[in-house]
Amino acid sequence: MKPLLEVSHLSTDFHTSAGKVRVVENVSFTLAAGQTLGIVGESGSGKSVTSLSVMRLLPKKRAVVQGSIKLHGTELSTLKDKELRKVRGNKIAMIFQEPMTALNPVFKIGNQLQEAIIQHTGKRGKQARELAIQLLKDVGISAAQQMMLSYPHQLSGGMRQRVMIAMAMSCDPEVLIADEPTTALDVTIQAQILDLMKELQRKRGTAIVLITHDLGVVAEMCDKVAVMYAGQIVEEADVKTLFQSPKHPYTKGLLQSHPQLSDDQQRLFSIAGQVPTPAHYGDGCRFASRCSSRMDICDKIPPAVTSFGDSQHSRCHLYGGEAHVSAHTGS
Ligand code: SF4
Ligand code: MG
Repeated sequence: MKPLLEVSHLSTDFHTSAGKVRVVENVSFTLAAGQTLGIVGESGSGKSVTSLSVMRLLPKKRAVVQGSIKLHGTELSTLKDKELRKVRGNKIAMIFQEPMTALNPVFKIGNQLQEAIIQHTGKRGKQARELAIQLLKDVGISAAQQMMLSYPHQLSGGMRQRVMIAMAMSCDPEVLIADEPTTALDVTIQAQILDLMKELQRKRGTAIVLITHDLGVVAEMCDKVAVMYAGQIVEEADVKTLFQSPKHPYTKGLLQSHPQLSDDQQRLFSIAGQVPTPAHYGDGCRFASRCSSRMDICDKIPPAVTSFGDSQHSRCHLYGGEAHVSAHTGS
């Protein structure tokens, strides 16, 4: 499949009082129309900074983003601000964990939605209003007229997230970046929002980048997965391969810590320790301090990426950096 979004060698440095800190390093991925890529990892792994870097939403004074971000072959990283705003409104949209931060508390939902429509589509007046109502219906809000007159605080978390999705969809984006879109919601509502995203994707062919720490959400939604740890992608694979044959010890740990419904004991295994901050990455593998497979070399030399067939890649010394072809033969 021809990639719609192509991110290559993306690195992001933050200027801090302690100097320059690299929070995302050499991240690459591709995404085709209608596909969903999951970016998973614990908090502090660089998932959100990756998406904000792709959207170029980080403050220029604080962050330096390097690498290439192509949409339909057009390089976004060198676009002027004005051109970029057009892309951001019309081709790539983003939704966040807490819609309350993105909605303005003092304006009615209808006004905010129509404002987004006016900005992104050029439609005005009655046309903008009609589209706003249609979008609210599209995201499963049946009392759309009434919703138009509500203020954000009058809505439940699930309804607010539906409104945010309607707003993101107002420009019919080709790519939707969703950063923990259901994390703040309870399980039933979470399932409804995920279903809604899938349905919109099916209807419109939207490509989705889904950032989550929840492997259940990944299993439900994604075609392929990039596992991030301490600013790097440590493993990537199609979703089935990742669950059936994980290679990286971190991926294995995440899978073990994910409670299985079939697991009678419902025991929660968690990986001891925490994601290190950049000052504590050390010389070798960034996962070394938490890895039960750690070897001498792991402390000294950063592991190279090993490929297992075309679609699975893992950054770990266990595989020696040589190309393996046994992608589906277990770990
Ligand atoms: Fe563990 Fe070594 Fe692999 Fe890092 S390189 S994940 S420490 S085995
Ligand atoms: Mg985050």
